Amino acid sequence: MIKLIKYKKRKIKVIWEKEPGCFAIYDPNANTLKIDPKLSKRNMAKTIFHELWHIVCYVNKIDINKIGEERTAKLAEEFVNILIANPKLERFINGLLVRRC
Ligand SMILES: [Zn+2]
Repeated sequence: MIKLIKYKKRKIKVIWEKEPGCFAIYDPNANTLKIDPKLSKRNMAKTIFHELWHIVCYVNKIDINKIGEERTAKLAEEFVNILIANPKLERFINGLLVRRC
């Protein structure tokens, strides 16, 4: 389990608790990311990427409802920067990506 995600001078605290009604929630004011610890590995990986996307959009001040395909794709490149800055997060996500043969 990871405790912190670093992104562009921000240190987001990861709280492993269930938030009623959702898998995870990013609170930019509290600078926290709350994740349900009981998700399946695959759903946890999907949820982390979903929340990272919210973090990228918030930190870069982008309203995702107003942008098109090209800019969305460009922003997705920020995941590379996040994973480079957070080797523990990268290993944690890798551990979630169990392939079914
Ligand atoms: Zn969402």
